[in-house]
Amino acid sequence: MEKRQELYAGKAKSVYTTDDPDLLVLHFRDDTSAFDGERMESLARKGMVNNCFNAFIMEKLAAAGIPTHFERRLSDVESLVKKLDMIPVECVVRNIAAGSLVKRLGVTEGEELTPPTFELFLKNDALHDPMINESLAESFGWATPEQLAEMKALTFKVNEVLKQLFAEGGLLLVDYKLEFGLFKGEIVLGDEFSPDGCRLWDAKTRDKMDKDRFRQGLGGVIEAYEEVGRRIGVTFA
Ligand code: ADP
Ligand code: UDP
Repeated sequence: MEKRQELYAGKAKSVYTTDDPDLLVLHFRDDTSAFDGERMESLARKGMVNNCFNAFIMEKLAAAGIPTHFERRLSDVESLVKKLDMIPVECVVRNIAAGSLVKRLGVTEGEELTPPTFELFLKNDALHDPMINESLAESFGWATPEQLAEMKALTFKVNEVLKQLFAEGGLLLVDYKLEFGLFKGEIVLGDEFSPDGCRLWDAKTRDKMDKDRFRQGLGGVIEAYEEVGRRIGVTFA
């Protein structure tokens, strides 16, 4: 497999084509963004930590029967993935109220959500990822009702696998965002699962161990990601 030209440089990852038209290389950079890219900083080791974290989680999800784009880790900061036609819709499941939900509905942070909630957001930084629904996604052609149903079912299946995995490490999976795409017509989990795209709290102290440490200027961001990884069995490069 040969890495070729850069296809896209996102806020945290760069995407490269390969000599295989069905495969891409994801390069996890140290760049860290918040507030739709308004705040950017480089955090040493983040690319390596998220690449190893994501590889570990994607393998757990695949073992649980979830179709993912992940093929294999290529280096400290790179992974080989299937090239997907990305669906520009972010799927968010919440087990506990936090973040934008608290602001939007005026509910208390930490309130348990029973059953867990499911939300859709349009992936569009310029519009600050507005909340959408199935009707809008269908009318604007972002995804079909069948694709949306599959994305929702898979997002909840991920919740069952990961809530348990993190619980064994003494962590609460508060919420998370997933992105899906199409590979030969099938819905496949893409992008990444790392503490950049989820909220994880220590089950006893409720300390934040995720990207909220960066958003809220709490410090110890990468140390917290590494601690989460250590508790669930991730091996860092
Ligand atoms: P952003 O685009 O939000 O700034 P990143 O810096 O993480 O985010 O960039 C990675 C980009 O690659 C995202 O736009 C994501 O949707 C896209 N992507 C992730 N996995 C795949 C894949 N398997 N195939 C094609 N594109 C992908
Ligand atoms: N999230 C993400 N990317 C986004 C928006 C949200 O990874 O563009 C994640 C976020 O880290 C959290 C969950 O999705 O784990 C829910 O985010 P929320 O809607 O509360 O928004 P935020 O408070 O992060 O703006």
